[in-house]
Amino acid sequence: MNTLVRIQVACEDEEKGRRALREAFAVFKRIDHLTSRFPEGEPAPSAPGDVLRINDKAGLGSVQVSDDTIEILQRSNYYAGLSGGAFDVSLGPVMDCWDFGQDKQYVPASEKIGKALKLVDYRNIEIDPGQKTVFLTEPGMSLDLGGVAKGYATDKAVKTLRELGIKHALINAGGNVYALGTGPDGAPWRVGVQDPRNSEGIVAVLALKDSAAATSGDYQRYFEQGCIRYHHIIVPSTGQQARDLIQTTVIAESATDADILSTALFVLGPRHGMSFVQSLPDTGAVLIGPDKLVSVTANLNNQLTFTGEGGYQVAGYASKER
Ligand code: ADP
Ligand code: MG
Repeated sequence: MNTLVRIQVACEDEEKGRRALREAFAVFKRIDHLTSRFPEGEPAPSAPGDVLRINDKAGLGSVQVSDDTIEILQRSNYYAGLSGGAFDVSLGPVMDCWDFGQDKQYVPASEKIGKALKLVDYRNIEIDPGQKTVFLTEPGMSLDLGGVAKGYATDKAVKTLRELGIKHALINAGGNVYALGTGPDGAPWRVGVQDPRNSEGIVAVLALKDSAAATSGDYQRYFEQGCIRYHHIIVPSTGQQARDLIQTTVIAESATDADILSTALFVLGPRHGMSFVQSLPDTGAVLIGPDKLVSVTANLNNQLTFTGEGGYQVAGYASKER
């Protein structure tokens, strides 16, 4: 998944704790293999994962996939519909234009993006949960699960930890956090929200218990050209960077939902993002704009403490419209 995964487990029995860690990391490996859209290098290549096979057969035919892949795509498309297409996992062709992670990076020609954009539409991902098949209806279409796979793997790893009897754990998969139970001292886990403009700094501290939090930012993967930052969160209708926010954090029960929503809100921007998140049950958000203005949902009032560092200004706590 091209990121660092950190898992902390606290339990009385060391052997049990070590086994839990091993099995939780194995879950990440499994989901990484299923969802990666790039062939594996080393160790020895195994059979291609679901996403590679689905993309390979775009426009040609449906592909038999695992329950995990069905679940990820159903959840992704559910939020794609709710967000008016702000989240769209059929963004593969456009992500290929931007080609993040290459040594030499440059802004692609707009004709190239325009061509790729024609292939982006989550409604052309046909999911058959009965047959457990997926079909991309247009040749050249491709899935990119970079905005959901880490959250989904986090949920599955938590499930494994619970089944092994673990009561206290903290997972952080590249900004996708799940706090299982409390910390070992009985108090909620404390998780810092990174300062989007200073990797050493913290804007706020979240208290979490049996809850997920996911952060998306314009500083995770980007390059600069002509003093402009080109980052990896893309507006599916234009193929260009979403620019109305610099960081989003979503708190939800499910890490999958939090991961999807942090990307979706980033695309929607502060106004639409806030009203969207307030329409969802048991979901909170912290949105930071380029002007360092912070908007927060009122339901986080008791679990979020701002550090006051970095010059960020809390614009207000927004409560549910009635
Ligand atoms: P990170 O991967 O840094 O945790 P995100 O969760 O926000 O950040 O995911 C960003 C990734 O999601 C991109 O690298 C890309 O693979 C994919 N992506 C970018 N824009 C969108 C979008 N509008 N809808 C769905 N996926 C997206
Ligand atoms: Mg995300």
